[in-house]
Amino acid sequence: MHDFVVVGAGPAGSRFSRRAANAGHDVLVLERGRVGTPLACSGHVSTDIWNFTPDGARDELLQNEVYGARFHVDGPGSADHPFYKKEVISNVIDRVGLDRTLARAAEDAGVDLRENHSVSGVEEHGEYVDVTANTPDGTETFRGKMVVGCDGPASRVRRELHLPEPDEKLQGVLGFTTEDDGGDFVDVHLTAPKFFAWRIPRGAEGVEYGLAAPPGESARELFDRFTADYGVEIGNFCAGMIPIGPAPRVTAHRGFLIGDAAAQTKPFTGGGILYGMTSADHAAETVDPDDPGTLADYERAWRRELKNEIRLGHWVRRAYSLPKPLQTVGLSAMEGEIGVHMDKPSSFFSTDHLRTLLKRTS
Ligand SMILES: Cc1cc2nc3c(=O)[nH]c(=O)nc-3n(C[C@H](O)[C@H](O)[C@H](O)COP(=O)(O)OP(=O)(O)OC[C@H]3O[C@@H](n4cnc5c(N)ncnc54)[C@H](O)[C@@H]3O)c2cc1C
Repeated sequence: MHDFVVVGAGPAGSRFSRRAANAGHDVLVLERGRVGTPLACSGHVSTDIWNFTPDGARDELLQNEVYGARFHVDGPGSADHPFYKKEVISNVIDRVGLDRTLARAAEDAGVDLRENHSVSGVEEHGEYVDVTANTPDGTETFRGKMVVGCDGPASRVRRELHLPEPDEKLQGVLGFTTEDDGGDFVDVHLTAPKFFAWRIPRGAEGVEYGLAAPPGESARELFDRFTADYGVEIGNFCAGMIPIGPAPRVTAHRGFLIGDAAAQTKPFTGGGILYGMTSADHAAETVDPDDPGTLADYERAWRRELKNEIRLGHWVRRAYSLPKPLQTVGLSAMEGEIGVHMDKPSSFFSTDHLRTLLKRTS
């Protein structure tokens, strides 16, 4: 019997597996397809990402360095409100490469990773859990002391364990052009209902255009209008779901969720790579596969670190729905150099940020 049967080899699954294997646990990972595919993510992350990757990853994965964001109340060509730092704030990275790098690091730590294994059923018992998967050779059942649902926003494990769905699921769409742009700024357009559209320069890899919107809106139509306004032709169109939470409960008797399956994302950007891996570390540190009682420690640990940030993130997102004149006044008042960390809305109240604001006015 395995200590952990992990479902999904995205950032959350691979990070948890690697840390659990390093702690001496027997870890099996079942991945539905090939690791990293299909792509449905911008891979725009804070520089903290490199705390989670093996040595040398930055050289392989980095596509562009970003110093700030230009906010627009309207579409392309409208007035912009820049927010920036003098040092690099974030990185644009090869997201498929990230997943593969993290999965390789997990395998190096001793994890047994099986691709083309799509989990279809989970059954919890008193002392163990059975996880059934469709494999290239037919259906197979794997037994573990715990199942770990790292299977993304439409999590099968979440459903099988009867855990609550995230409050909201946005639809995200993105596509690429071949423009060569190593610019220092991403552009954010507050034109999509309750969210935004974006333009991300990816250096020699081209430029990414994207948009997310709540269900009920046609994200694809809004996206087509947005890219037409920019006057660009899109290739490699892709789409995915962004869960917004946090979920009220992410642990069961012999199973738990990490990452998008647990809606551990930033409500104001939809980004979940860093929050998912941060939570994966808490899970690896707290959960003992022989003691289901330790699942409560995981619930406490990740919420202690992220709950406040997620709550503040909801407040930031509310500003996306304000009337345009108010948005313009607010953005005009706040634009300029900032001292904020992109994963931590609480850093808006940090001494770093306040010092930067004071510098501006002196
Ligand atoms: C359009 C868009 C843009 C985004 N941009 C950013 C960004 O710039 N920065 C950022 O931080 N986040 C971004 N995100 C969010 C980010 O992609 C997720 O937060 C992140 O991928 C979550 O990681 P995860 O490991 O929890 O889940 P995932 O990355 O979704 O991984 C889940 C894995 O589970 C596998 N799986 C699913 N079902 C099964 C099954 N039944 N059996 C076996 N395996 C299964 C999948 O194949 C996948 O490999 C974006 C999302 C979207 C939709």
